[in-house]
Amino acid sequence: ADWAAAVDAVRRLTPDSRVLLICHVNPDGDALGSMLGFGLGLRRLGLRGVQATFPGPPEVPEPFRDLPGLDLLVPAAEAYRDPDLVLCFDAASESRLGDLVDRLAVAAPAVVLDHHASNTGFGDVHLVDPQAAATSVVAEQLLTRLDVPLDAEIAECLYVALATDTGSFRFDATTPDVHRMAARLLATGIRPGEISRRIFDTRPFGAVRLYGDVLGRTRLEPAAAGGHGFVWTYATLADLDRHDQRPYVLEPLIDSVRCTAEADVSGVLKQIAEDGWAVSLRSKGAVDVSRVAVALGGGGHRFAAGFTGQGTAQDVVARIRAELDSALTQAKERD
Ligand code: 5GP
Ligand code: MN
Ligand code: MN
Repeated sequence: ADWAAAVDAVRRLTPDSRVLLICHVNPDGDALGSMLGFGLGLRRLGLRGVQATFPGPPEVPEPFRDLPGLDLLVPAAEAYRDPDLVLCFDAASESRLGDLVDRLAVAAPAVVLDHHASNTGFGDVHLVDPQAAATSVVAEQLLTRLDVPLDAEIAECLYVALATDTGSFRFDATTPDVHRMAARLLATGIRPGEISRRIFDTRPFGAVRLYGDVLGRTRLEPAAAGGHGFVWTYATLADLDRHDQRPYVLEPLIDSVRCTAEADVSGVLKQIAEDGWAVSLRSKGAVDVSRVAVALGGGGHRFAAGFTGQGTAQDVVARIRAELDSALTQAKERD
């Protein structure tokens, strides 16, 4: 990783330098937490011109509306057009940056902090660690190299990011180093119970009713001839409308679907347009779902990946099914 170049790029800044932090569209806990935590760290260095933003609707999902550092956020349309430095968080490819890709083309160097194996290598300075459990792991390392001490505000942001991407410290990415980092964050006095309740365990009543509708139409396609069982469901714009809910309330649904014992792979299709779906895929290990997602125009990790699909829900599911079958054929050919 280009640590020296990243440290140098930050050290060269002056208090009034325009620093633009960006993260991926539909930001999750890692995207927002690593970006805001790092942004607060830059402020501690005396930088006054730090802005943070993300593409698409400027709305911050309800669970993240108490994060420290939210005052760094500006709508994408108002973000610096000609910043002195760009830092990009948790985005595997430029396609995840929407209209903000134009900020990568300006004269300023772009430092990319990420942990996706599918990262395309865009930007100028690359801090991409596929072994890292979250982008916030990379962000904390850069803060350490910049001699920024952790305080409770920075720690809360980084903790939300780490807890989100490790599934609350349940996934295999939860290494001893992850727990050591969590220990450093907790030592600042942040309250994990309170944070977890806010992030993971608080949803509007309408969302709970909506989950009933969506989970009620879950389909299990059993493993055929040694293949992979696939369990999936979909949520339409009409579902959101009927329960008066915002799209981000759908994010936890994949965790209910993926627990299906009879399936190796799970998916939730979230309608984003008349014939467009944001798809979440999860694997228990037999299948590398990032390959499936990349083949369908998206990206992600071995166990969690996603893409945007066009057509009806049935069309999109048929395409996933075809990719799963071809993954199986390839695996058999290798044997
Ligand atoms: P989630 O299902 O939680 O939205 O995403 C799971 C993983 O897949 C995340 O690491 C995320 O970055 C990646 N991912 C989700 N949707 C997309 C997409 O449309 N394009 C790309 N490149 N990656 C995605
Ligand atoms: Mn993310
Ligand atoms: Mn992440």
